[in-house]
Amino acid sequence: LQLEAIKYEKMQVVSHLAASMSHEVRNPLTTVKGFLQLINEDPTNVSTNRELSKVAVREIDRATEVINQYLDFARPHPEVEVEVEIRGEMNRSKEIIMPLAVKKGIILKVNILHHHSIKGDPNKLQQILINVMKNGLEAMETGGTLRIFSYQEGEKVFIVINDTGIGMTKEQLMRLGEPYFSMKGKNGTGLGMMTVYQLTEGMKGTINVQSKPGKGTSVILSFPIYKEEGEGTLATPAHTTKVRP
Ligand code: ADP
Ligand code: MG
Repeated sequence: LQLEAIKYEKMQVVSHLAASMSHEVRNPLTTVKGFLQLINEDPTNVSTNRELSKVAVREIDRATEVINQYLDFARPHPEVEVEVEIRGEMNRSKEIIMPLAVKKGIILKVNILHHHSIKGDPNKLQQILINVMKNGLEAMETGGTLRIFSYQEGEKVFIVINDTGIGMTKEQLMRLGEPYFSMKGKNGTGLGMMTVYQLTEGMKGTINVQSKPGKGTSVILSFPIYKEEGEGTLATPAHTTKVRP
């Protein structure tokens, strides 16, 4: 039953994101159209037109990237357990959530202070991150900042998603993750955090949430760092020690 709920929850997120996605793709289309009109008005102005077409290509590339990331997130993936590079998944999740942030006038700040991996399913990590980021954005009705950062401490990587939104009361905080608990009426499913808890536990991670009403919320995820074979923590023989860039 819970597995079905997680699939259903993903579909809800996917269809919700579709609206802001199309908006984000329409913007570059408008820009590119304007540039083509300018080029058309004065086809002989080679240097200006070269600049204009360069920017136009960049805009199209960016829109394509947004669509590709979104479609990749939306499609079903077979379950896997692999080495998941945190930095890549955080950046991809940020890309997917970006149109929603732009629409709400929210600043996204990403800072990743390591290059570690964890063991698990990259698509599930994305679903976790997107759900938490989306909650953060939804908690900020009048703009704000969503900070996403990641660091290493001991044998764990920590991922923090911090918003400057409405925050939660003690009672709300206690109910977080309870199926169908939502303060968003028909705009919420109340399945997002349940999904996040399920998937995080599945990757041996933990979740810690700190929140103050009127101030904001920090969701702190932690996962055991992935280790390659033979890369033990204790007495690793010198000849097997790997040097990382
Ligand atoms: P939904 O987002 O569909 O309501 P979730 O399980 O994702 O369901 O979240 C449950 C509830 O927890 C939300 O309705 C909201 O009241 C509260 N919540 C979750 N994240 C935050 C946050 N970052 N800031 C404030 N409230 C939050
Ligand atoms: Mg949610």
